[in-house]
Amino acid sequence: MERTALCCCGQLRIKVSGEPMRVVTCHCLQCQRRTGSVFSDNAYFDRKSIVAIEGKSHEFARRTDRGSLLHFRFCPECGSTLHWDVPSEPETIGIAVGAFADPGFPAPTRSVFGVTRHEWVINPKGAEAFLANPAGPRED
Ligand SMILES: [Zn+2]
Ligand SMILES: [Zn+2]
Repeated sequence: MERTALCCCGQLRIKVSGEPMRVVTCHCLQCQRRTGSVFSDNAYFDRKSIVAIEGKSHEFARRTDRGSLLHFRFCPECGSTLHWDVPSEPETIGIAVGAFADPGFPAPTRSVFGVTRHEWVINPKGAEAFLANPAGPRED
């Protein structure tokens, strides 16, 4: 199966084949600021799944809570973040689930940074929930 994720204006696009290795909802404050939403939903694919990346992008890099640099690629025209590198997994690419604009996209199986989850946001059914990242304590 091939899927294409687009920025808001459509000039930046990434096409992938196959299924994501995992889908993760993140409640961290950085994701809240980056997306303008109160959580992010993130698909992680093997880089071998990338069919094409087209269009111009700019980069924004920030430190993670564990000190490594995360590089986000966003559209210079409309500002949507489309994809990013995963410092601890060079073979993996992160893609914003919303950019696929597909309500049938696989549901998250993991929730992270529950420590800053808005109280009214309910974790996806059956998802493993962590207070920060999966190296630390679980939320429940
Ligand atoms: Zn755009
Ligand atoms: Zn986050």
